[in-house]
Formats: sequence, C-alpha cells, structure tokens
Amino acid sequence: MVIDAHRRVVAIDGPAGAGKSTIAKALASRLNMKYLDTGAMYRAITFEAMLRELDLDDQSAVTHLAQDCDLHVGIDRVIINGHDATQAIRGSEVTGNVSKVAANSGVRTEMRLRQQEWATAHGGGVIEGRDIATVVFPDAVLKVFLTASPEVRAQRRVDQHGGNVTEIASAIAERDLLDSTRADSPLVSSFDAVVVDTSNRTVEDVVDEIESMFFERNR
Ligand code: C5P
Repeated sequence: MVIDAHRRVVAIDGPAGAGKSTIAKALASRLNMKYLDTGAMYRAITFEAMLRELDLDDQSAVTHLAQDCDLHVGIDRVIINGHDATQAIRGSEVTGNVSKVAANSGVRTEMRLRQQEWATAHGGGVIEGRDIATVVFPDAVLKVFLTASPEVRAQRRVDQHGGNVTEIASAIAERDLLDSTRADSPLVSSFDAVVVDTSNRTVEDVVDEIESMFFERNR
C-alpha cells in the first residue's frame, strides 16, 4: 500500500554539512532499511544539464531533461542517461549550480514523484534531503532536522573534499540561503520534526538517539 510505505519513511533534512548522509546511511543500516540521497538526484540533473550545455536559467529545457532522464541513485553509484556521475556530482562546478536547478519547480515536481515512487517500491526507507518532511513525505513516521554550527559544517566539508575553510564556509552559506529562500519547498524544519544538533557529537551517538526515537514511534 502506497500510504503505508510513505509512513514507513524516516525523513532526514537539514543544511549542507549537518551530517545528513553519514547519519542517514548508518541509520538505514541499523534499521535494515533502504537509503535514498535526494540531493544526489538534484546534483545528477545539474551534471547532465551542464554536460548538454543547457542554459540553467531555461526552466523549460531543464524540466524536460529531468522528466526524460534515466536516473539511478544507488548507495555508491549515481548514473544518469548511462553516464557515471558519481564523482562529478560532488565537484565544485555542480555544487555551485545545484541550488539554481533545485529551485526549478518543474524539476522538483518530477524529483518528488520519483522519490515517492522509490519509497512505494521499497516499502519506505531512510530518505535525506531538504523538503522530505515538509513536502515529499508529510506522513513520515519520524522527521529529523539535523543542524550543526557553520564552523563545524565547513570543517566537515574540508575534511571530506579538501579546500579552504573560509571559502567553503561562504559557499555553504550561499547555498543554504538559496535553498531556504526559494519559493518551492524551501529548506525549513518541519513543525513536527525533532531538531538534532550534531556539532561536537559522534555519529554513533546521534544515530543511537534517532534509532531510539524510531523504536519509540513504532512501539
Ligand atoms: O544534500 P546535498 O548537499 O547533496 O544537496 C544538494 C542540493 O540539492 C541542495 O543544496 C539543494 O539545492 C538540493 N536539494 C533540494 N531538495 C532536496 C535535496 C537536495 O533542493 N530534497
């Protein structure tokens, strides 16, 4: 049943560098649930649009690309129209443009549909993004909004991908601003989400806390 599958979703939202991917993956493995990184979907569309040299401001062209693409986001591989985009979607060019593509309502409608179909096909899952609790799965059994201080978030990105901490901090701030001020499904904590600050906490500690909340909800 579609509705039941959508209830069996753990929604993990939050800004860049809050620890969403690390925590969501670890949680999915603990709970023996599937994991979906919706940010990778928006990144893959951005990658493919750039590869085709589309004007990213051309909303209609980018929407058509999103509607027609063959997109596979797996646990360790992202393939779009046969191109392995796993590495490229993490690069600075895609990262610098993804918020513009993600603000396109046509793209969002298509991605939202695919995310809902994914949950139906897998009987729920741990799903991370920006609008998972607020828009895509409003009936999710558990909604977590992860945060961390700007300094911690920038340092995490530098540890993962290298770079200058001041430059990365300003790129993150710019992306968060675009994501949280766009008209369609902006980054915001859902009224019924549990806010968890991951600064200065271990992954295990945070996953323990979310796992307990999950079992509490499913008693
Ligand atoms: O999570 P990640 O940083 O990889 O997401 C990349 C971008 O994709 C975000 O900055 C945001 O613009 C967009 N995104 C979104 N909605 C989601 C997930 C990601 O708009 N559910």
